[in-house]
Amino acid sequence: MHEMALTESLVEIIEEEGRKQGFARVRVVRLEIGALGCVDPEAVRFCFEAVARGAIVEGARLEIIAVPGEGWCLDCSRTVPVRERFGACPECGGYHVQVTAGEEMRVKELEVE
Ligand SMILES: [Zn+2]
Repeated sequence: MHEMALTESLVEIIEEEGRKQGFARVRVVRLEIGALGCVDPEAVRFCFEAVARGAIVEGARLEIIAVPGEGWCLDCSRTVPVRERFGACPECGGYHVQVTAGEEMRVKELEVE
């Protein structure tokens, strides 16, 4: 389950931020998960519970924001919604679409105390 490794590095990033910014507790973690990133939000939630124990984020609420896939179609010269990686452009049916959003997982916001 690659979500475990992802969640571990996520918690490490937050701990690092805590050291830099000087907060000791996190109340809410808002996490963006891209629809095209092959990351299962439920698995992340499960792993987070386990990884958070004894860490700065212990007891924090995890809010997951699903980010829809988006791409730039070279033929249409516009941003189009993307349902799957390497999928066709919904406007022109072409395959010259570069994914611009929806592939990554990142911390959008932290509520700290
Ligand atoms: Zn197109």
